[in-house]
Amino acid sequence: MRRCTVTNMRAKSSRPKAAAARSRAVAASAHPTTDHQSGIPVNPRSAEYLRQLLNGRRRSHAYLIVGPRGVGKTWLARVMANAAVCHRPSNGQACGDCESCAMFALNRHPDVTVVGEREQPTTVEHIRALLSTLDRRPTVSQRRVTVIDQAEQLTEEAANALLKSLEEPSGAGMFILTASSLRALPPTVVSRCAVVTVAPVPVETLKAQLIRDGLDSTRAGAIAVLSDGRPGIARYLATLPAAYEQFLADSDVLISVWRAPLHERLTMAADVVDDYQEPSRLIGLLERWQSLIGRLLRISAGLSDRGPRHEQLHDIARRLTPSSFAETADRLLAVRQRLNGTANTRLNIESLVLHLPRLV
Ligand SMILES: [Zn+2]
Repeated sequence: MRRCTVTNMRAKSSRPKAAAARSRAVAASAHPTTDHQSGIPVNPRSAEYLRQLLNGRRRSHAYLIVGPRGVGKTWLARVMANAAVCHRPSNGQACGDCESCAMFALNRHPDVTVVGEREQPTTVEHIRALLSTLDRRPTVSQRRVTVIDQAEQLTEEAANALLKSLEEPSGAGMFILTASSLRALPPTVVSRCAVVTVAPVPVETLKAQLIRDGLDSTRAGAIAVLSDGRPGIARYLATLPAAYEQFLADSDVLISVWRAPLHERLTMAADVVDDYQEPSRLIGLLERWQSLIGRLLRISAGLSDRGPRHEQLHDIARRLTPSSFAETADRLLAVRQRLNGTANTRLNIESLVLHLPRLV
């Protein structure tokens, strides 16, 4: 499998109505498909829907797999790419035995190219280099598959360069894009793809799997809640105790900002910028805050939450309205997208922290 290095980035907003209508939200199920690499379930209906797409009349040449980080998008993209190049696919699934599957398993398949890994921007140069190879006939398979992981990292120019191929691919060409959100992509890209939205695994299902993997019930429950039902994040937290502690520390930052009077918040924003100088750490912090807002919205809706910091969160949920949480979630998403570009980090964090509603 060829892997292109990437460099540069830009994100777009504005969710296209047509694309939203085409998007298929895939609900969670109580009978998860097992990710054989981790032993942790991925949403089975997502896998099943992709299989149907590959197998059925709605087969497309460009797919977009959308969902939060750690939900299993990259894994599903691999499953899909493997099935597309397999010599003996059955019912939309790769055989796992043929020569093509063997090359795929070794990441050495000549007809599969992956770009966009490592959270670096994908430039127009990368896309042009990629497109120049698409007219070639596949070497060992019927199809030539291009996986663009984290497509939100496409620069605007790169996305534009891709449009024609997404619309009119060469005969054997197939694209699989992944992205954390439809709003992070140009509408012109989204509208050219068959969209599959991957839902998280239900927290109770994930907890049960973590217990089967050897965690005690309390720890499994805490990780399932903290990971928001995302198997990849759960695996990360289960294997790295330091990461688990960092998740809690990041949550505590938001809780303390919320409780702080307005005149202290500028100082707190400055502390956040100083403490999270590394861009990936800052983005991680904002992700954790988004998860926390998700928990607050669920608590406000009356759903049970006995996860870490649940007492503080129930207190906050009692004192603020669901609409204020939704507003904060929108702000967080907007700041994350701006920070992907060249936005001023300090100004954005200050604005975010100052606009957090005060507890009443
Ligand atoms: Zn095969």
